[in-house]
Amino acid sequence: MSVRTGVPSMKRIAEAHDRPRFKCWRCNDGATRLERAHAVPSMLGGSDSDPSNYALLCPQCHVDAPDILDGKAFWRWVEHGSVVVEMWDSFRSSALLEATAIKGEDWVVAQFDNMYRMAIFDATGLHEGINPATRSWAMYSAARIVLAMAAPTPATQW
Ligand SMILES: [Zn+2]
Repeated sequence: MSVRTGVPSMKRIAEAHDRPRFKCWRCNDGATRLERAHAVPSMLGGSDSDPSNYALLCPQCHVDAPDILDGKAFWRWVEHGSVVVEMWDSFRSSALLEATAIKGEDWVVAQFDNMYRMAIFDATGLHEGINPATRSWAMYSAARIVLAMAAPTPATQW
């Protein structure tokens, strides 16, 4: 049995989401041939057969999309693109500043390094390398954990 047997058609994916079939869901480009992009990659346990686990993206947006375990974050990126990446980056900066104020820089640098590595290996797809959105999400996730370790009841919420 072929691995791709259960991959849904573009039509089924568009119908499952009630979204257009011929325009990129991220950038609205209708000129290029769309691709099926997993919300949660199959190597991280995402379904290959469920049409709701796919977005239709142009090749450039598919390359730029975060390749991560967090399906909600993927869909937020599809809706808002670079704005979401900026929010992840800004959360990371303030969370690390807050943690540094509590635990000091050496502690934060060491913990962040560990947590970032864990996020990359456990929660991102490595097959196509780490693109900027994937890296930003992994750093955001690591910073969330570091802040939770430094301050069990964090002042910063997002
Ligand atoms: Zn696009």
